[in-house]
Amino acid sequence: MIIRKEYKFYAAHRNEELQDKCRNLHGHRYGIVCHFEVQRTGSYSTLFSDFDDKIGPFLKEKYDHGMLINVNDPLYTTLKSHMATHGEDFKLCEFQGPTSVENLAYKLFTEITRMGFDLSLLEVQETDTSVISYDREDWARDNEAQVFSAAHAIDSAQ
Ligand SMILES: [Zn+2]
Repeated sequence: MIIRKEYKFYAAHRNEELQDKCRNLHGHRYGIVCHFEVQRTGSYSTLFSDFDDKIGPFLKEKYDHGMLINVNDPLYTTLKSHMATHGEDFKLCEFQGPTSVENLAYKLFTEITRMGFDLSLLEVQETDTSVISYDREDWARDNEAQVFSAAHAIDSAQ
């Protein structure tokens, strides 16, 4: 059985490697749809609140109104230095590679799986018309390819 849960958060980012409009700092309302594999055990397989209690607060704390940023982007160093100099505490959500929607899907899939949920598919919506569907096979492939060593980034962030 599949249980589907939707979340959203607002975040800034840029794609520093691209030479188009995406290079500019801009924001998105990211929509996240999680498809969870659940074994039926009696009438109540899982309470929806099991997901909401963990995933909602996690997204709010780590992502919402934050900035997704590649630690290799020169802007990262600039922001860190600004924070140190001015005592401002920006919410930076660190990526070990470009903050593309593909890499965001990989990072979120890893984080939600590590919370102990059996995620079979994750949809990430970046704009009104663009959604990517990222499944367990994509995740396994990305883990094998060590896409952007996000696993390392996630370990060190915990
Ligand atoms: Zn964007």
